[in-house]
Amino acid sequence: MTLTGPGRALQKERRKRDILQTGQLLIEVRACGVCRTDLHIMDGELQWPGHPVVPGHEVVGVVIETGPGVEALAPGDRIGVPWLGWTCGECCYCLSGRENLCDSARFTGYQLDGGYADHIVADARYCFPLPPAYNDADAAPLLCAGLIGYRALAMAGEAKRLGIYGFGAAAHIVAQVAKFQGRTVYAFTRPGDASAQAFARGLGAAWAGDSTQAPPEPLDAALLFAPVGALVPQALRATSKGGTVVCAGIHMSDIPAFPYAILWGERRILSVANLTRRNAREFLALAPQVPVRTAIETFPLEQANEALDRLRQGSINGAAVLLP
Ligand SMILES: [Zn+2]
Ligand SMILES: [Zn+2]
Repeated sequence: MTLTGPGRALQKERRKRDILQTGQLLIEVRACGVCRTDLHIMDGELQWPGHPVVPGHEVVGVVIETGPGVEALAPGDRIGVPWLGWTCGECCYCLSGRENLCDSARFTGYQLDGGYADHIVADARYCFPLPPAYNDADAAPLLCAGLIGYRALAMAGEAKRLGIYGFGAAAHIVAQVAKFQGRTVYAFTRPGDASAQAFARGLGAAWAGDSTQAPPEPLDAALLFAPVGALVPQALRATSKGGTVVCAGIHMSDIPAFPYAILWGERRILSVANLTRRNAREFLALAPQVPVRTAIETFPLEQANEALDRLRQGSINGAAVLLP
């Protein structure tokens, strides 16, 4: 399913398969998660890469062929392909353990063809074996909602009282990990979204309410998964001195001006960009220990446009997953 330009719908397309280059895998896709980032690409909120895009960066599949030089994986292996698809290995970020910031990074489902497809070619060095406890569809949301959610959670440091703004795919996984780590979770949703609030309580949130409400006690950290800049000052107001507001999305609407007083007191605002392979290894080892259970709604691949519409409306509890 291909996007030929921003503002258009996905279209079904048939392609000839590529010849595998050194280090590449040919993978039969079994499931692919739908991420908010896919909507940002579709809506032109991220820079258009200059070629048609096959979205999808939460890819679960089985290796069916390996290119020259692949030793770590073999045909028959079940693997996940995440957003980080390639890095240069040479820039100052790559050389300092921050490959998520690589100047020349290429991302799956953006610069590289993604998993809204029946087959995908990927660089074996950026693919990961998946915990056997998860079936294909249940594992898909671990690969972005899980991994980048986990990176965002790590940015919150030791915060005990954790606010989560936007209770979708990432939040529903992060809430389970946070609770497992002994944190208390406060879930903030779109005002009046009783269904998402009930969903959050069901996953262990101590409190769930509207994003405009104050939590029952001040937060040590807030994670923002909703792409709404106006939430930044709201989250700062809900956060105690020394607290951190983590913006976890790749795009956000403009942040309105706010009084310095709500940042004062050594509060911090930071963003989370992408993931490292280390995040992936750590989180995929942790998820079955929690154990993280993913809530999914599946759609046939050819209904990718419908799945994206439903995500846009906010009417999916958990994550949407496409099945080829
Ligand atoms: Zn994503
Ligand atoms: Zn680099």
